Amino acid sequence: MNWLGKMLGLPEEFLNSSPGPGGGIIQGSASEATLIGLLVAKERTVRRLLKQNPSLDEGSIKAKLIAYTSDQCNSSVEKSGLLGSMTMRLLKSDADGRLRGDTLKKAFAEDLAQGLIPCYVVANLGTTGTCAFDPLYEHGPICNEYDVWLHVDAAYAGAAFICPEYRHLMKGIEFADSFDFNPHKWLLVNFECSAMWIKDGLELTKTFDVQRIYLDDIKTDTKVPDYRHWQIPLGRRFRALKLWTVINIYGAEGLRKHIRNQIDLAQHFEKLVRSDDRFVVDPEPSMGLVCFRLKDGDKITKSLLENLTKKKKVFMVAGAFRGRYIIRFVVCSRLTKREDIDFSWNNVKYEADLICKPEIHNKFKIPVLEHIETITISEKSK
Ligand SMILES: *Cc1c(COP(=O)(O)O)cnc(C)c1O
Repeated sequence: MNWLGKMLGLPEEFLNSSPGPGGGIIQGSASEATLIGLLVAKERTVRRLLKQNPSLDEGSIKAKLIAYTSDQCNSSVEKSGLLGSMTMRLLKSDADGRLRGDTLKKAFAEDLAQGLIPCYVVANLGTTGTCAFDPLYEHGPICNEYDVWLHVDAAYAGAAFICPEYRHLMKGIEFADSFDFNPHKWLLVNFECSAMWIKDGLELTKTFDVQRIYLDDIKTDTKVPDYRHWQIPLGRRFRALKLWTVINIYGAEGLRKHIRNQIDLAQHFEKLVRSDDRFVVDPEPSMGLVCFRLKDGDKITKSLLENLTKKKKVFMVAGAFRGRYIIRFVVCSRLTKREDIDFSWNNVKYEADLICKPEIHNKFKIPVLEHIETITISEKSK
């Protein structure tokens, strides 16, 4: 985890190699990391408020705690609010899918005015929908000012921070209390392996320390974290070995090469889409993700994706951006080559031809079959 943290360029205080009390831990998933952040934030806030005013009631404090994230958050972030019994407000993101600092500050003020207590913020570095990056440098000072725990969910895109040229996207990371990304997504480690760092590990011990006589013998000195306090289960899987193996096989430079190559492949796909004026690439591609749609509208774009999915040659998932239906193309496999990108694009193009220009296909006697219905739609929309 130290190697990995250093590769990402995380601030020293997050690393186990620092004098403490920060450190890293491998969790099973980004979902767990988000939930742990929420639970720690809850207890930290309760402790702080009880210290200020011991006559307060713990139950009534907990009922007033509020968590915040953007409306672009992953489903697991919203779910952490459900699991941890905390209202999770999904604040409106800007036109680029980023949650801005002034929106966050306004939400804090609204809630404080109602006697509620801001407690936890999840910033998204690389949203699932469009891979947008929240400005951490805006969230950070606000969270610090209000004593709100700032967790960073960089599940997919965090891997790119091993390349220095992408680190500007995590500007403000020094304000965060916890950070998580999934080497099992984009860093060649087999599922499951989610890397989480926490700036103050003592907060975890204060929150989750439950003593039993049978746990007495595994009390460690404070230098070595007792990871049972850092996670949900008591026992731990040995997931470090596969991360260690991947880092050793590829080396830091090999992993950087992998990330850069995948982004290059995505940019190649982007170029192909842009070369066809029936399509729009929107929003701007980010990392390995290219979102695109047909200019003719949502209906026809949806038909295109449905038809592609039916053929089972290319698999893509839909999304929504600024109210428009988009198709999301992402490069994932370490085996993907330029030819695969060309193959994918040729399939997209072929299906688009079937939908947009049925007459050409009739001429060459290519069976149209189930596309008749979608053709009608496209003809109408023209
Ligand atoms: C994939 C993803 C998650 C969920 O990751 P799990 O490890 O499956 O819990 C959370 N947030 C973002 C931004 C993701 O892309």
